Amino acid sequence: MLPGAREAWIDATEKFIGNPSSPHRIGQRADRVLQEAREELATILGCDAGDIVWTSGATESANAVFHHWERTLPADAEVWLSAIEHPCVLAAAEARFPGRVVLLPVTPDGVVDVGRFTEVLRHKAPGAVAVMAANNETGVIQPWREIRELCSAARIPFFCDAVQWVGKLSSRGLAACDFVSGSAHKFGGPRGVGFLKCPSGVKLSPMISGGGQEDGRRAGTENVAGVLSMISALREREVTIAAGGAVERESWRREFESRLIAELPGSEIVGAKVPRLWNTVSALMPEADCQQRWVVKLDRFGFAVSTGSACSSGREKASHVLSAMGYAPAAAGRVLRFSSGWETKREDWLALLDGLKQVSEVVGRAASVAK
Ligand code: PLP
Repeated sequence: MLPGAREAWIDATEKFIGNPSSPHRIGQRADRVLQEAREELATILGCDAGDIVWTSGATESANAVFHHWERTLPADAEVWLSAIEHPCVLAAAEARFPGRVVLLPVTPDGVVDVGRFTEVLRHKAPGAVAVMAANNETGVIQPWREIRELCSAARIPFFCDAVQWVGKLSSRGLAACDFVSGSAHKFGGPRGVGFLKCPSGVKLSPMISGGGQEDGRRAGTENVAGVLSMISALREREVTIAAGGAVERESWRREFESRLIAELPGSEIVGAKVPRLWNTVSALMPEADCQQRWVVKLDRFGFAVSTGSACSSGREKASHVLSAMGYAPAAAGRVLRFSSGWETKREDWLALLDGLKQVSEVVGRAASVAK
């Protein structure tokens, strides 16, 4: 958590102890700061404060969208999602639209194929569309603006899971999408708090019923300290982004990638040819060995990395993202994923490169002995 966000959280737990729904003064004081936070987020996104609903995070936000669509779209409506959505979007859609979820293909670089989407849209219209802003596994930026425009022209509601975008790139303009989700813990805020931006004038069918909080759209006493802390973090990130902080960090990521390819022959960057988030690298490692070995060894060097597959008892199941991009299970089994944060320095990327080279030697030796 950002120090400022931590302070905002502690400060709020001491100052705003009232229940925002209570009519007494301490309740109203909490309600007032919650409203101010709503206005601040609305200004950042470019929408009305009334369009913002506080949630427990992006998984809840995604579920709330599909819950709403389940209740408001025609009974036979299809929902179209990109094939690389986060599991919380895929599962939320499958649960509410069984047999009516259509997955939109991506190019081998991991970008939603706008051409195909436009073509299919000529013959058939879905009830709703969901495409993320940037992918959490590859960092590949998605054409959410183009898809949104096409949906808007065809009057199709559009949901953008912007979890990987908000707090890393400028959030301005995101509110043009009907629904947008974000999550505090992705940009230096606390876990367990997020938001859902809804279309103005649309009454969200509440997924969580109870009290009439959030204008009847999400019941439950609001997490005032969490919201204030989240907004403090986002405010700070937006300032850093406006000052060009993302540009410098992207150059460090690029340097890491070009050196990785040059110094670890056989390695390859996923989505190398297309724009990606400055903090995410998905790369194929040279040895076609179970990636858990890499994870364990890199962990000893102080690097917590992820893989591109679930590797259990030596059999890999490729991630749905890599599968959608056309990677065979064996290739996906060579993928490691690295994510940096705002605090990560150039030297950290170079230390990771060094760690990878050392682990490669050990894993490579083990692989040749096994053969
Ligand atoms: N969507 C994306 C793209 C994510 O990366 C994540 C979390 O990693 C989520 C949704 C879920 O967010 P939360 O942890 O707030 O439920």
